[in-house]
Amino acid sequence: MSQVHAINTTGDRGGLPQRVHLREVGPRDGFQNEPEVLATADKVALIEALARSGITRLEVTSFVRAEVIPQLADAAQVLRTLELPDAVSVSVLIPNERGLEQALLVRERFDEVNVFLSASEAHNRHNVNRSVDQSLDGIGRLLARAGDAGLRRQGTIATAFGCPYEGRVEPRRVFEIARALRDAGCEEIAFGDTTGMANPLQVADFFGGARAALGEQVELTAHFHNTRGQGLANVFAALQAGVTSFESSFGELGGCPSGGPDGQPATGNIATEDLVSMLHEMGVETGIDLDRLLDATRTVRDLLGRPLGSHVLTAGPVAWSAPRPA
Ligand code: ZN
Repeated sequence: MSQVHAINTTGDRGGLPQRVHLREVGPRDGFQNEPEVLATADKVALIEALARSGITRLEVTSFVRAEVIPQLADAAQVLRTLELPDAVSVSVLIPNERGLEQALLVRERFDEVNVFLSASEAHNRHNVNRSVDQSLDGIGRLLARAGDAGLRRQGTIATAFGCPYEGRVEPRRVFEIARALRDAGCEEIAFGDTTGMANPLQVADFFGGARAALGEQVELTAHFHNTRGQGLANVFAALQAGVTSFESSFGELGGCPSGGPDGQPATGNIATEDLVSMLHEMGVETGIDLDRLLDATRTVRDLLGRPLGSHVLTAGPVAWSAPRPA
């Protein structure tokens, strides 16, 4: 297990939580948005390697139509083949009822569903060709069926901090959508900075308001993108606002396929290695072994055959015992 350091002048953690939950979303958010299609056996080996690093929450795939996202056409096969410790909670992304039906054929192979919509009308229309209210209706039916199947339910709200089409998204509107998801059965709600528009002050305000608007029962998760290099700063702001659940992607894989009005993808989940390194250096526990995590990331880098965005993958973990550079 990697050493956890608490390097600051006072020896405390500045009010930060002692421990946080991380969900690794690279096998879904990453593989879905990278141009290459990895072989099923490679995906399975990577997911198992991620679990060996101590990650206990994994979003492994999505049940989407193969014509739309060929990268994830093997969702059922991935789930059937995976061998993971019982401690790992396996999540799948469900876009619609057809996807849920497909997923329920392998119900015994996963634990959680993640359903999603955008907070802004324009992004939601662009992404799923529905209004936000229409999406909420459909999601309500999905969540009811998933609940009947005994699945834990997560709802993700994209463009929660800003929309590439509409600009500012009012937190009040985001909380209204979040309450609808909570009332429809979500135990956890993730707020996505889908195109990397959030800044740390905004994040601090947002999560201060979110807890008050949503009560103590629902888990609030932050899903930041590093599109403009502010991903980890936003994590720090969220930590200070009391958030203890985060999502990230190994190697900084993935992003958003329908990012901006110009059609350019807004790449850049925050890299799990960078997130884990920062948290450990601040004395916040994750339960993840950074060296083993880096093994998994090196493997996916070698499979894809190109450099990845992760900083710690390039620099290596902080080595406090190393000699100071001259
Ligand atoms: Zn993402």
